[in-house]
Amino acid sequence: MTDTDLFYLLKQQVDKHLSSIDISGSPWKEFLASINATYQKFDIDQRTLEDSLTLSAEELVQANDEMNAVFAAIPDQLFHLDSDGRVISYKLGQSSYFYLKSERLINKYLKDVLDIEVVDKFEVSIKQVLEQRSIKHFEFVIYHDRKIYYYEVRMMPVKSHGVIALIRDVTERKLAEEQIAFLAYHDNLTALPNNRLFKDRLEHAISQAERGNKLLAIMFLDLDRFKLINDTMGHSAGDELLKITSQRLIEAVRKTDSVAINASGASSSIARFGGDEFTILLDDVENIQAIIHIAERIVENVSQPMMLGRQEVHISTSIGIAIYPEDGKQADEILKHADSAMYHAKAQGRNNFQFFADSMNKSSVELLALENNLHKAIEHNELCLYYQPQVSVVTGQVVGMEALIRWQHPERGFVSPGVFIPVAEETGLIMQIGEWVFREACTQGVNWINAGYILEKISVNLSARQLKDEGLPALIAKTLEETGMPAEKLCIELTETALILDPDVALARLKKIKAMGVTLSLDDFGTGYSSLSYLKRFPIDTLKIDQAFIRDIKVDHEDAALVKAIIAMAHGLDMEVIAEGVEIQEQLEFLGANACDTIQGYLFSRPLPAKEMEALLLKR
Ligand code: C2E
Ligand code: MG
Ligand code: MG
Repeated sequence: MTDTDLFYLLKQQVDKHLSSIDISGSPWKEFLASINATYQKFDIDQRTLEDSLTLSAEELVQANDEMNAVFAAIPDQLFHLDSDGRVISYKLGQSSYFYLKSERLINKYLKDVLDIEVVDKFEVSIKQVLEQRSIKHFEFVIYHDRKIYYYEVRMMPVKSHGVIALIRDVTERKLAEEQIAFLAYHDNLTALPNNRLFKDRLEHAISQAERGNKLLAIMFLDLDRFKLINDTMGHSAGDELLKITSQRLIEAVRKTDSVAINASGASSSIARFGGDEFTILLDDVENIQAIIHIAERIVENVSQPMMLGRQEVHISTSIGIAIYPEDGKQADEILKHADSAMYHAKAQGRNNFQFFADSMNKSSVELLALENNLHKAIEHNELCLYYQPQVSVVTGQVVGMEALIRWQHPERGFVSPGVFIPVAEETGLIMQIGEWVFREACTQGVNWINAGYILEKISVNLSARQLKDEGLPALIAKTLEETGMPAEKLCIELTETALILDPDVALARLKKIKAMGVTLSLDDFGTGYSSLSYLKRFPIDTLKIDQAFIRDIKVDHEDAALVKAIIAMAHGLDMEVIAEGVEIQEQLEFLGANACDTIQGYLFSRPLPAKEMEALLLKR
């Protein structure tokens, strides 16, 4: 702002307030004349800002009677402060609220009369204004009685000393601006964001997701047969229905638990896109499964009967879902695809959701069916454990076994753990299944021990999700205690991914488990990305070389060299080595020649039911 700007600003204020009073009387005429003289003087006189301000500060605040009157008419607060923020003179204006800690201000410091956050801003500005000899402009707010008050400050230097601060209450203007902004970006009826704001947010989310490699889901909803209700029951009933529906959507998305959406600040945005169309943006989604859960919940929530007046009404919705980045990289493109998926959902008989990509519809149906079945698998006794022996390379004796889960589905038949374990991990069912596996393996182990069999060790697989659970050490302790399984006979197999997901937490948890006497084994080694030296910080007893490296050990020199190196390094770190997936004699020979401790694989035995495993155990 230039000096002339400032001057006209003052003039504007004066004019505004003078226009509201009758100035035909002679004292007023005189007064006006003197003001006009001052105006003219200012206009003609091309003095610098400093000079003119000197004039205003000194003369206006202190000496000049007329200008004091002018100032009195200005609604702003006016402070003449010295460089330390001490009040030299002041005038309080008309503010809706302006909080001062003291009524007597002369010679008080700002910090004695204003709140500390506000004082900071003043002090910084005083310094700048005096150093740069220029006008500074800043804003501050005061919170009082659950209301917020906005102020604008213009601060300018005074030649003799100090600064003048003009403080204006701009609360009304700010609130009006906010109101206008809100109306421009929200739907009047439901107060939800409108399509404009939705597109803005979508674009923003896309640019965030681009950087973070995240998954976004866009849902396009259309109410089924809304027009019928609107036409038969009238528009106000239609409005009411839209309002209720918007509440139901908010609820359905808000119910989102940490399983469905990443806890790390995931957010969602619901908009009324127009008419009976709504759009939902799910930000930072963990997986497709989470999207399916939310879509199901929405379909369910919306289809609950509602009362419009005294009439019960049933409505449903069809949802189209598009995923970023799979189904498009631009906001418009994704929206268009979600829209066309919505028509697909309508064509499928309404009251359902459809993904834009057909492949996803298929896999989502399969996944859901599998998940529903898996829920019942435990109670219906469809799960069981097989045991695969682990054999010493040197002695040829069974030195341990790995418990591997099996699911015998009544209709589907055998379902491989490679298929259902990932589903269990996604849905969280792995927690229950994992608990069952612990208990089953320990119970079996104790049965063998009590029957006089020599049992070295049973290994149980642990998934990443289980390691994330704070209750894991307690669960293991409880299982050991209740089944009577000796801790040192239990080994837990972890994968590298589980460890590096949250290394510090994993380490703390593993230390607790180790302290009980349970041993730890690193499964599928070589498939991850971390180096052995990184992994050595974890208290691992055994390393299992993944079968991918063992497979071609006799033909692939690189694999052979790698396996040799892994064995040597592991031994250097005091770990034992188990080779997984040993199928042929040559592999065993190679491993024997390179000091591998133990093998596990079809060469010796496939995973076996408990009864058959028993036959391989020696009796005391
Ligand atoms: P894993 O822990 O690496 O288990 C070894 C897998 O290799 C087993 O597959 C086993 O049957 C198979 N295998 C053993 N010897 C040979 C061989 O000589 N050749 C070949 N080609 N394969 C061999 P399975 O039983 O299908 O289990 C697959 C994966 O499922 C396991 O890999 C493990 O990650 C997971 N899993 C199995 N049971 C559980 C469980 O109780 N909990 C958890 N969280 N995961 C489990
Ligand atoms: Mg394993
Ligand atoms: Mg393995």
